[in-house]
Amino acid sequence: MKVCKFGGTSMANASTIKRVVNIIEDDPSRKYIVVSAPGKRNSADVKVTDALYACFNEVQKTGNCDSTFLTVAKRFHEIVNELGVDVDLDENLKVIKEGIEASKTPDYAASRGEYLSAKILAAKLGYDFVDADEIIKFNDKGELLLNYSLDAVKAKLSKLDHAVIPGFYGSDTNGKVHTFSRGGSDITGAIVARAMKADVYENWTDVDGFLTADPRIVDNPTTITCLSYKELRELSYMGAEVMHPESIFPVHSVGLPINIKNTFNPSHPGTMIVKTAEQVDGNSVITGVSGQKGLTIINIEKDMMNNEIGFARRVLSILEYEGISFEHVPSGIDTMSLVIRDEYLVGKMQKILQKIKESVHADNVEIHSGLSLVAIVGHNMASRLGTAATAFKALADAHINVRMIDQGSSELNIIVGVDTCDYEKAINAIYYAFVKEQ
Ligand code: ASP
Repeated sequence: MKVCKFGGTSMANASTIKRVVNIIEDDPSRKYIVVSAPGKRNSADVKVTDALYACFNEVQKTGNCDSTFLTVAKRFHEIVNELGVDVDLDENLKVIKEGIEASKTPDYAASRGEYLSAKILAAKLGYDFVDADEIIKFNDKGELLLNYSLDAVKAKLSKLDHAVIPGFYGSDTNGKVHTFSRGGSDITGAIVARAMKADVYENWTDVDGFLTADPRIVDNPTTITCLSYKELRELSYMGAEVMHPESIFPVHSVGLPINIKNTFNPSHPGTMIVKTAEQVDGNSVITGVSGQKGLTIINIEKDMMNNEIGFARRVLSILEYEGISFEHVPSGIDTMSLVIRDEYLVGKMQKILQKIKESVHADNVEIHSGLSLVAIVGHNMASRLGTAATAFKALADAHINVRMIDQGSSELNIIVGVDTCDYEKAINAIYYAFVKEQ
């Protein structure tokens, strides 16, 4: 049995929804379907979810969403007319508009794209529609109640042969709609797949699978055939997009495989995401390369730091107090560096520097901004001699200065810090040294 999730581009208009219907009907094991709201039809288009957030914002300013709601209504009218499905769209739109105008938070507004998308697809397929607010539950802090949700999904869906469920939202303990973070329909799909003990969770999107590098940086990167959850987590944490990074957690402990597939090229096998490194066949040294821009290093120097017990704790507690998370903490004998995303430091930099100087009596604290991180990821690196040599030779040959190096003890990744002006060059250098050469 397969649980399928179809993303925004798959649900963008009537003709893409017809593709979705064909894919589902083509394989009787595709029983429970989770959908996103209609996404962009072309690069200049607006996602329905963004249009719905705009409705909420208009209400905050004017008390109604008379003008922005028109875009949403028009999108759904076009879809319903072209598909010829039997849903009472006018009544639904009326209730939704009133609901948005009465809401205090944006969650209800944001969720309605998925809600209507699922209603329309359920009508087209003749499947039951199951509202996510009945089965996906959050506590009053907005945290997902995973076990509760798994039980609720199972109790509801086991009685149904087929169903369509809206992604991205559920409800809190007061019954109010609450959404995941953006792209969260992937998480809903993972919860449904786990609850229903699916053999595979198919995540249908608009690319052939997870790529070995960012196609905006590397020309025509290859697709990864198979990777582990851990590799996926590393690559997506470092910026590779395809799936919501948190969508692995619901399926991780049970080892349920995820298959990323392309709605616009359904015969392509896509990318399989599996539990352990041993299940990943293939001998590529690295699985992929990704990275992120926009980081700052704070370098702290103090003579005899290595003898001082509690030094790191005092520094890190300053970050904790300020609510700042760090990416890496490379250290030397008398130096400790903090690698932090620029956005976390906005308006706080001077305060943090001052606090660090005072609390550890540092000899010197320096800031270097304009840093980017490049992550070279793959389980196979652990068993291969010379991986680091290949990586650093490739960077040196491309005249790239390495500002920082960090390697996790699991040898799953090597992270290098480079100046942001060298970022694209560094990704290409690594890609050509490993992926193209292997
Ligand atoms: N529609 C939501 C978004 O645009 C959620 C999703 O597509 O998964 O973020």
